[in-house]
Amino acid sequence: MYNTDTVYPFWRTKPQQVWDMLHSLKKGQVHHLCKSAGGYDIPYATYGEKQDYRGTANYNSACGARNPKYYADREGRKPTIMLIGATHAQELEGVMALMNLFSLLETGRDLRGEKVPSLLAAYEECGCRLVIVPIHNMDGRMRCEPDSMLGETHQFMRYHGQGTWKDGTLCEWPDCKTVHPLKDAVDFLGAYYNDDGVNLMHDDQFCPMAEETKAILRLAKDECPEAILALHGGSNVPNCLLQTSYVPDYIHKAIRLLAEETAALAEARGLPNRVDPVPDKPESFPPPSFNLTTALHHVCGAVSCSYECNQGMIDPWGRYAFTAEEMLLHHYSLFEAAFRRPWKELTPFFCE
Ligand SMILES: [Zn+2]
Repeated sequence: MYNTDTVYPFWRTKPQQVWDMLHSLKKGQVHHLCKSAGGYDIPYATYGEKQDYRGTANYNSACGARNPKYYADREGRKPTIMLIGATHAQELEGVMALMNLFSLLETGRDLRGEKVPSLLAAYEECGCRLVIVPIHNMDGRMRCEPDSMLGETHQFMRYHGQGTWKDGTLCEWPDCKTVHPLKDAVDFLGAYYNDDGVNLMHDDQFCPMAEETKAILRLAKDECPEAILALHGGSNVPNCLLQTSYVPDYIHKAIRLLAEETAALAEARGLPNRVDPVPDKPESFPPPSFNLTTALHHVCGAVSCSYECNQGMIDPWGRYAFTAEEMLLHHYSLFEAAFRRPWKELTPFFCE
């Protein structure tokens, strides 16, 4: 295991580095999301003016009234985009990318010292409000010793991510989800979880166990974003946007379009991708989980999706392993595609 940030100076994902970055912001504003189960402050940052959506009802009620504009009248408003890092705290690629985005927004150069003109131009043209939660699961990050999974094995990732059962064997995936909260069932609690052993992605979304879940749902409801991108790491997958379960078809189509546009920008940088189809809806058992990404859509109507980044591990299956820089550039492709997206065309209800 090595400290990634000594090898790659642009890889800064330690909690102290994130706090230092947030304290240094001049253009962005820093806010308090909530305290974690372990008692740590979880901050977030915003750029651009908060958009007043003039809502008179919550989203569910507005949909019941057959027009989401009772929740949010988006006419004449700038879009709001919400970016969430490290809900699973061993998946630090997104934190690294968000730290570089902070640097770009603040200084015009990222932590490599590079300008990324196409990304900044897309951001300027978009004129959006940005809401950035760099480390959602702060407990997991505080517990996670490695700064990345670069050059590590599958077993190493499972140990630090999912932890070990009482008998010392690894909590494998998806078996790590068979007990929840997990805290009392494990010997070593991985960075997937907060200090109470809650995996925020699979909290009870309608009556959450974790304050971190409640707080992020509240933030989405309050900010009313057009898009929510949850930044995850997915072992050595080709980078992709996952289709979100239990959302309307126009949201699936919007995710597909964003995935295609991200892939086009990434391919221009020589990076591989996967673009998932708009899903059919066959009867299936077991049903897909109603996870945090789904819940975030249902509190505000946003195009909410999870992005999975290749983690650059020593590849147990012989697939492609990203370098640190490739991870950064792929995130840039996603951010640029998100800034360029004409969000209002994708949510026709909002424009009525
Ligand atoms: Zn994840």
